[in-house]
Amino acid sequence: MDIEFVEGWPKENKVRLLIKNTDSAQVNALRRTIIADVPKLAISRVDYSQGVTQDNKGEVYESVNALPDEVLAHRLAMVPVPTNPEEKLYFPDECPNCMDLAPKDKGCPSCQVLYTLSARGPSSESEEQFKTVYTGDLTTISDPIFDVREEHRRIPLTILAQGQYLEFYAFAVLGRGREHAKFTPASAITFRPNRKAILNDAKAAETLFSLNLTTNDGTKIDKSLFTKKVCSDVDKVLDLEKAMHQVGAGTGREEAFGDAITFETIPNEFVFMFESDGSLTPEQIINSAMDELQGRFSRITEELDFALA
Ligand SMILES: [Zn+2]
Repeated sequence: MDIEFVEGWPKENKVRLLIKNTDSAQVNALRRTIIADVPKLAISRVDYSQGVTQDNKGEVYESVNALPDEVLAHRLAMVPVPTNPEEKLYFPDECPNCMDLAPKDKGCPSCQVLYTLSARGPSSESEEQFKTVYTGDLTTISDPIFDVREEHRRIPLTILAQGQYLEFYAFAVLGRGREHAKFTPASAITFRPNRKAILNDAKAAETLFSLNLTTNDGTKIDKSLFTKKVCSDVDKVLDLEKAMHQVGAGTGREEAFGDAITFETIPNEFVFMFESDGSLTPEQIINSAMDELQGRFSRITEELDFALA
């Protein structure tokens, strides 16, 4: 299996890869590994402060807000927490400090990241009726490298009315997607056979070219996409496939267009796409998935050797 980035990717958190010398079973194993096995940090416990407090002006606040605690905890779980694979954290079950402790006592700086949030609704003198609490209000106690990233700081968590406050500690731990979706580092993980487009009839293809369509990068869709009647640029082929809907069945152009452009599958090549949630970079996700796969297969080989010895 040879993996390369399609030129120009990743774009922010999205990525397109070209995988060669493989089959669909292997590529699907990679897809499933990203969904279920790549370790990622996510908030998995929240301790709320409860009760009534008074600020120094004598104003009274109560620990209620628009959402039930459970719903808010779920929202926190889905917040992308920066996961740095170089920063060695243990899984809670494998942490040497906590391994033998009772579940309620588990958790130390080697296996969890601690966040806190303290917010109050608008004061009674304020003209505002509500205050929105955002992920940006989360403060990391553990280490600034785990601070919620800039791009994720405007995710709304809940709203507070006058006289309401929200205060909690949240604990993020490493986990895998097979335990809970909050640990899955990417979404929209798909793949398809790599194809090339063949220009069979330049004249009939004018039906499409005369529509003045462009590819995603702004290149005009016309015969200049083809070199010696073939277009094998991964991005352009995908854009061309979309453009073909303009000359497909029901458009009234299908007869004039005919088979002017056709697509041919390239054997053993796949285009693989996904979007990271931002907790890991696309490169880190791929590398981590390959490590997981490799680890699993070498374990199987060892066990087979042992069983057959
Ligand atoms: Zn620990």
